[in-house]
Amino acid sequence: MTLPRQADLPDSYAAAGEPALTERIVARKAELADRLLILCHHYQQETVFAHADVTGDSLKLARAAASARDRRFIVFCGVHFMAESADILTGADQIVILPDLRAGCSMADMAGQEEVAEAWQELLDAVGQQMRIIPITYVNSSARLKALVGQKGGSVCTSSNAERVLTWGLGQGEKVFFFPDEHLGRNSAAALGIPEDEVLLWRRGKPLGGNSAAALKKAKVILWNGYCTVHMQFTAEHVRQWRAKEPDIRVIVHPECRREVVQEADIYGSTERIIQAVRDSPAGAKWAIGTEINLVNRLARLHPDKGIHSLSPFQCLCSTMYRIKPTYLLWVLDNLAAGRIVNRITVDQETAAQARIALDRMLEI
Ligand code: SF4
Repeated sequence: MTLPRQADLPDSYAAAGEPALTERIVARKAELADRLLILCHHYQQETVFAHADVTGDSLKLARAAASARDRRFIVFCGVHFMAESADILTGADQIVILPDLRAGCSMADMAGQEEVAEAWQELLDAVGQQMRIIPITYVNSSARLKALVGQKGGSVCTSSNAERVLTWGLGQGEKVFFFPDEHLGRNSAAALGIPEDEVLLWRRGKPLGGNSAAALKKAKVILWNGYCTVHMQFTAEHVRQWRAKEPDIRVIVHPECRREVVQEADIYGSTERIIQAVRDSPAGAKWAIGTEINLVNRLARLHPDKGIHSLSPFQCLCSTMYRIKPTYLLWVLDNLAAGRIVNRITVDQETAAQARIALDRMLEI
């Protein structure tokens, strides 16, 4: 996806030290008062996260945006698809802002709307136009893909309700085409007991996704081969290494991790579930966590009575989330205070209406 170019910030922003940036952000927040709502995803760095009015995963933040009808400006410290969802769910008079336009999501970018529309047609031609196929897209996708899914009778899902939405999809049609995350789709299908030979991978750029028409006809779930570059860094070997080192450690991972990592873990679940499991565990509990490093570090700081570690010995950082820095947050707030709007994220009305169908369907399921 091509995003508008991010403007260079005046040198004064880069020159300001962290205490000065914090002071200026706090002052701007006070000035903009109840016209402003700052939303922060759990993967944001601490110096940004500290300024949040609401923190959460993408779904929780989208809901917070939707219910904040009185706030004119919503500054979304997350990535592009999240700001798009917020724009879809807010009123026409509300303005959603992404502090750095380069904050995209590599997984969402792996499923372009045109590419998916072509694959959809190819699949229908191969299995027969009369076959009812239900598209499901993870919320980590562009508004245009959500709109396509809405138009074709499908639904959005999140990492916490993927199994429920997949069950719904299979009740509506003969098969489900799942975008863009192969691993969330595969882990959800396995949890529902769908045999492995009925779950097929659609490899982008290959005719019929690299499958035969017969295999596609037999499949119940067809998975787009997108993935999260952050969660792909965790391996089953990491789990085994932790168990050898700390036999009483518990391993919890996000369902964007590969199947074998989820199988080796004690628990898997959404970001909110990971937070809850750690919070509810007794003092002295030990955790190896397979998710983004800013969240793991924050959990370690919040629970000093527990042993909290990243599952991987390497820093699994979402580099696009990391683009949202205090300098960019301050810059958008300075502009708002001066009556200028920069980095507004808008979804055109037609796309928004169709995407909202897919989002509403999820909420009904
Ligand atoms: S952690 Fe993965 S899925 Fe989430 S925003 Fe970053 S790249 Fe996208």
